[in-house]
Amino acid sequence: MLDLHGLTKTYKTGDRAVNDVSLSVPKGQIVGLIGPSGAGKSSLIRCINRLVEPTAGRITLAGTELTGLGPRALRRQRRRIGMIFQEYALVERLTVMENVLSGRLGYVSFWQSFTRRFPPADIARAYALLDRVGLLDHADKRADALSGGQRQRVGIARALAQDPELLLVDEPTASLDPKTSRQIMRLLTEICAERDLPAIVNIHDVALARQFLPRIVGLRAGQVVFDGTPADLTDTA
Ligand code: ADP
Ligand code: ADP
Repeated sequence: MLDLHGLTKTYKTGDRAVNDVSLSVPKGQIVGLIGPSGAGKSSLIRCINRLVEPTAGRITLAGTELTGLGPRALRRQRRRIGMIFQEYALVERLTVMENVLSGRLGYVSFWQSFTRRFPPADIARAYALLDRVGLLDHADKRADALSGGQRQRVGIARALAQDPELLLVDEPTASLDPKTSRQIMRLLTEICAERDLPAIVNIHDVALARQFLPRIVGLRAGQVVFDGTPADLTDTA
């Protein structure tokens, strides 16, 4: 379970992008984060994955605090968080398989990709993940040969390869057509349920969030202004 307590981020510019946010996400629950541009959605995600240092507040993941850590402890803790991005962030010249392995190993060098020296157990796991996301037949293709939806599936498999305890998903469908977007949302919700993973999905498409996500959190000016089911959202918005 993920716990945010009084999380606040004030940038050097004086912008208070996240303002005293407290939120719990239990295992297996996928939460949609919505709000107008500038509401603080990416700042909140970047605080949790510790790309930015929160100004105040606490973040705990399964009871372990992620705030106030030294660089080494921080690196170790960040391995517990799987990230999925809008633009996939794949290494284009590597194969699908190698991109997934990079989630497990942290990094795949060109030399490794040339010699194909990877731990067999990791390869077996990567194949299983590719099977789960429906890309088994594409394992040896280069990432840049895939469609947007296929790339996002690789992004999901790569995040899972690191055996995360939390998924943070930043606008996963913003570059996809409506049908592919729905397929990706369905896959994400299924995977969180199967693996009992908590997840936060930053999503600007409210209709899509309503259709797939059991819980929606609305941010405005850095504060939580809504927290409920899609049905509650219909009543208030
Ligand atoms: P921090 O307080 O986290 O160190 P900084 O104020 O130093 O953040 O800014 C970090 C980066 O974000 C800089 O590269 C800066 O150009 C960029 N940045 C600054 N202001 C904004 C803004 N209003 N929106 C988005 N990015 C910004
Ligand atoms: P959203 O993801 O909801 O669009 P952001 O987290 O990007 O919101 O931005 C929230 C607020 O923080 C905005 O006012 C933005 O200008 C400001 N901001 C974001 N990043 C930075 C930064 N690096 N430095 C200074 N201000 C920032």
